[in-house]
Parts: sequence; structure tokens; C-alpha cells
Amino acid sequence: VMMRAAEMMSPRIDEKDMTFVTNMKSDVVVNGDMNRLIQVVMNLLANAITYSAEKTSVYLSLHESETHGIIIIRDEGIGMDKTEIPRIFERFYRIDRARSRNSGGTGLGLAIVKHLIEAHNGRIFVESEPGKGTQFKILIPKNHAT
Ligand code: ATP
Ligand code: MG
Repeated sequence: VMMRAAEMMSPRIDEKDMTFVTNMKSDVVVNGDMNRLIQVVMNLLANAITYSAEKTSVYLSLHESETHGIIIIRDEGIGMDKTEIPRIFERFYRIDRARSRNSGGTGLGLAIVKHLIEAHNGRIFVESEPGKGTQFKILIPKNHAT
């Protein structure tokens, strides 16, 4: 899943002359719909690229706890204000700055991500600092009843 999502985003990484750092050593297996998990990772990578300057890095890594697969996507981009973070998962919500206004998105990406993660009984956490970057952390149970 991680490799597929990473491959799909590589043209956009190259276009902005960014560096893509992955760490997927552990062979984590979670229960879920592969295509949907690819969609989740792709959406978060797309944001990481869109909301970052050229020549910065994007980090994608996979970890696990006893009960969960853990995906971390981090960028060195524009970041988000603390007050904005509670709203970013709302449909059509976009942080209104010149930078995101030009980028032509719909504001649906994260609403879909949240929906797909919840469908896997997973959870998503955000940490962000304006001007420094953003990190999304996703927890997906290794085996949940479907
Ligand atoms: P879409 O994904 O539908 O094309 P979008 O990227 O604007 O449009 P979301 O993916 O839902 O919509 O993100 C909502 C808003 O959250 C974005 O407009 C942006 O302001 C902010 N945001 C999301 N990810 C990041 C990030 N990695 N760094 C900084 N801001 C972000
Ligand atoms: Mg988006």
C-alpha cells in the first residue's frame, strides 16, 4: 500500500524538486481495503507536496504497535495555525491564504481521508506549526471485525 501510494506521487515530488524519504522496514499487516488505504496515503502526500515549498522534504514511514499499524506523513511546508486544525477535516474547508487559494483544491481531501480511516476503525492525529511543517499520524487496527 505504502509503496503504491509513494510511486503514484513521485512525479509531483520531482516536479517541485523535493526529496522523498521513506522508511518502511517493518512488514506491517493491517486488515482493510487496500485501495482505500492507498487513497488515504495519496491524499496526505498530495497535501504535503501542495503545501510545501520547492526543494523541501516529505517523509513517509510505517511503524506498528502491538495492536495497530501506524503511518506517519510529515512535511516541511507552510504548516497550520492551531486554531485551524480542528476544522481541516470538514468538507470544503480550506485555510484561506494566498498560498492555498492558488492551489485549486476543493477542500474535500481530508474529509474523505477521515471518512476512510473511520471506516477502518482507525484514528488520525495532526501536529503542525506554521512555517515549520505538518505531521499526520494514522493508526489502523491490525485486525478489526468487519
Ligand atoms: P483537495 O484535497 O480537495 O484538492 P485541499 O487540499 O484544499 O483540496 P484538504 O486536503 O481537505 O483540501 O485540506 C484542507 C486544508 O487544510 C487545505 O486547504 C490546507 O489549507 C490545509 N492543509 C492540509 N494539509 C496540509 C499540510 N500538509 N500543510 C499545510 N496545510 C495543510
Ligand atoms: Mg488536499
